[in-house]
Amino acid sequence: MATDNALKVEMLVMYKECIHNHAASNRGFLLDGCGLFEGPSGTTTGSREAMLCAVCGCHRNFHQRVVVEIPQHHRSSSIRHQQ
Ligand SMILES: [Zn+2]
Repeated sequence: MATDNALKVEMLVMYKECIHNHAASNRGFLLDGCGLFEGPSGTTTGSREAMLCAVCGCHRNFHQRVVVEIPQHHRSSSIRHQQ
């Protein structure tokens, strides 16, 4: 009698282009060209260091936030544990 009609959607949050203007103080416009936020390895999630991009060193807030919806029925029921 189990009803499993509810479509579960996993929300994956990605942080893409860095839009940190490094020349703002000079009234210019200069981006560092970083295209994807990459969390530094070896840091605890939620820590201050984990919020800095390993590629360009900018805070995660400078990266454009993109939410990707992943329908769960396309996947197997195995649960991934990522640290
Ligand atoms: Zn940056």
